This record gives sequence, structure tokens and C-alpha cells, in this order.
Amino acid sequence: MSTSNPNNEKQTVVFASGNAGKIKEMNDLLAPLGYEVQSQQHFGVESVPETAVTFVENALIKARHASQQTGFAAIADDSGLEVDALDGAPGLYSARFAEMHNAGSGDADNNTLLLEKLKGIPDEKRSARFRSVVVLLRHENDPSPIIAQGVWEGRILHAIEGDGGFGYDPLFFNFDTQQSSALLSKALKNQLSHRGKAVQSLLEQLAQTV
Ligand code: IMP
Repeated sequence: MSTSNPNNEKQTVVFASGNAGKIKEMNDLLAPLGYEVQSQQHFGVESVPETAVTFVENALIKARHASQQTGFAAIADDSGLEVDALDGAPGLYSARFAEMHNAGSGDADNNTLLLEKLKGIPDEKRSARFRSVVVLLRHENDPSPIIAQGVWEGRILHAIEGDGGFGYDPLFFNFDTQQSSALLSKALKNQLSHRGKAVQSLLEQLAQTV
């Protein structure tokens, strides 16, 4: 794989995620550089259990599986929201926060539970960050995958604001633009976000290895 593309042909990279919002964000970030990001579902690849206890290991498990199944290079990410007042929760379990507390499932229930857990906590103690790890395996047996990380600092709002983005965006007041991340355009969120930063770092590392 290379970051330059003299023939103007798009290079296929499989993204090991079932989250349509994230796949679109990733494609928006990589398309200008000559990559076509396809979801693993496009190739009929089933998701693999995320059995590890760190973001990076989970990402590697997912990318290796997608690369094994398709024969293409594969990208995977693992990300989550770390809330300081909750000792870093929901963290690795951000997607299943409500489910793990028998409080429903999905984004709306996750947000409701987060608000409940932070009830009565003032702004100065509501600090939080999104963290993203993105890995790229050039092939299934790649012994030196590219590993990139990004963080986005902010705090948790007292009520949801905005209807853009996904996941915890409506509750995440980002310190860069001083507003809910659900109010940002996709382009601006891609520039500022944890995942945007991780992908930029991934591209820089990729450029240095060819
Ligand atoms: P993953 O799919 O295992 O990486 O789960 C990450 C979870 O963290 C998502 O389901 C969301 O709940 C949350 N998350 C990660 N990135 C974002 C973001 O950019 N905005 C809002 N929520 C996010």
C-alpha cells in the first residue's frame, strides 16, 4: 500500500466496522487520498467478538479478521468515551453502556444512562474525552501493523444538544469549538475529532513506511 496513487485508481481498504456513521466518516477522510473504504459487510464478513481488554488489541482482532476474510488491506478502529467522574467509564464498553447496566440498548439509552450517572455533578467535574485507536494491516499476516491514536477533549453536557453525529455526540461539549459535537458539520468534526486525529496520524505513518 502507498499513500501516492499515480494511476488514479482507488485502492480498496476494508473497514472492519458495522457502524454506517463511522464508515462514512472514514471514507470522507480517506477518499481524497485515493482510497475507497468498503465496509466488511460489503464482502459478507461477519463481525468478530471484541474479546480483548484494550482498544488496540480489539482493533487488531477486527482488522486481522477482515483482512483474512477478504484478502484486502484492512483498517479497524476501537474507540470510546472516557468520563473522569466515572473513572474512565464507559471506555471500552461505550457502545454497550446501557446494555451492561440493564438500562436498554443503543445510543439514546446510553446517553440517558450517562446523564443519570452524572446527575448533580457540576461542569468542572464533567471532563471527558473521546479516544480512538485506528490500525491498518497491509495483509492478514502483517507483523508490523500501523497503530495510530487520537483524543478529543471536552465535557459532558447536562442535556442533549443537536442531532448530528452519532453515539454520545449530543452530550459531548468539545473544547475546540465550545459546543456540542452533534452541532458540528461532518467536515469540521472529521478535522477535530479523536478519529480524525488518529486517521491523520495513521496516514503520516503510512507515508513514512513506503
Ligand atoms: P466501537 O464501535 O467499539 O469503537 O464503539 C465505540 C462507541 O463509542 C460508539 O458506539 C459510541 O457510543 C462511542 N463513540 C465513539 N466515537 C464516537 C464519536 O465520534 N461520537 C460519539 N460517540 C462515539
